[in-house]
Amino acid sequence: FRHGEASEVVVPTPNGDVYFGEHHPIVVVAGPCSVENEAMIVETAKRVKAAGAKFLRGGAYKPRTSPYAFQGYGESALDLLAAAREATGLGIVTELMDAADLSAVARTADIIQIGARNMHNFSLLKKVGAQDKPVLLKRGMSATIDEWLMAAEYILASGNPNVILCERGIRTFDGKYARNTLDLSVLPVLRSLTHLPIMIDPSHGTGRSEYVPSMAIAAIAAGTDSLMIEVHPNPAKALSDGPQSLTPDKFDRLVQEMSIIGKVV
Ligand code: PEP
Ligand code: MN
Repeated sequence: FRHGEASEVVVPTPNGDVYFGEHHPIVVVAGPCSVENEAMIVETAKRVKAAGAKFLRGGAYKPRTSPYAFQGYGESALDLLAAAREATGLGIVTELMDAADLSAVARTADIIQIGARNMHNFSLLKKVGAQDKPVLLKRGMSATIDEWLMAAEYILASGNPNVILCERGIRTFDGKYARNTLDLSVLPVLRSLTHLPIMIDPSHGTGRSEYVPSMAIAAIAAGTDSLMIEVHPNPAKALSDGPQSLTPDKFDRLVQEMSIIGKVV
């Protein structure tokens, strides 16, 4: 069981330091699944910033189920994220899949995401543990809470104390109506077990944009420290995860609703 106080993860961004943790307002990370082109990423960044997000998310390296599906634009997408950061001052969250890309990703990202599929990639965890950028560690889709916490431990034990845990849905017996089962019970459970800040991702957690708002509100009611929400200017045309992406208008309304029940920075 947890000993001691909640820890906070402080992330410097061009717009100032952002604090993740139990004793801080809710931090919202928003943006498209994949970075597609400069206009869409800069436009989305401006919209999510205006709505209240503190970080822009966007994938450059995409862990797709099919090798024939869009794999992300790689380093050129990192350059577009840097342009969006420059234009808005938002911090950048982007996924690292391969240790070979660590220096390029760390140059652009303010927080390095380790995706669900790499939660068990211990050599990658050790490498992000041995560098300075904060790490967002998504829960593996079939990972127990102990396995997830031990994955976090790999990062901490390698010397990086700045880890945020992100629940993004797990596989259960029924995947027909929702892509995953968003396990909101991790909020009270993790609070009793760990000092680390917690993020909830209702976009991957449900896979359906119409279910995202209620799960985001529920996560706030259950005490989340932060949220990750996929937002795309034209979800029907998205290169990945369109069905679970909110339009900027819907995202804007959601942040307003969230602010009624929780303090969103
Ligand atoms: C993502 O954030 O776009 C992503 C691929 O997430 P996950 O690793 O949770 O599937
Ligand atoms: Mn996605």
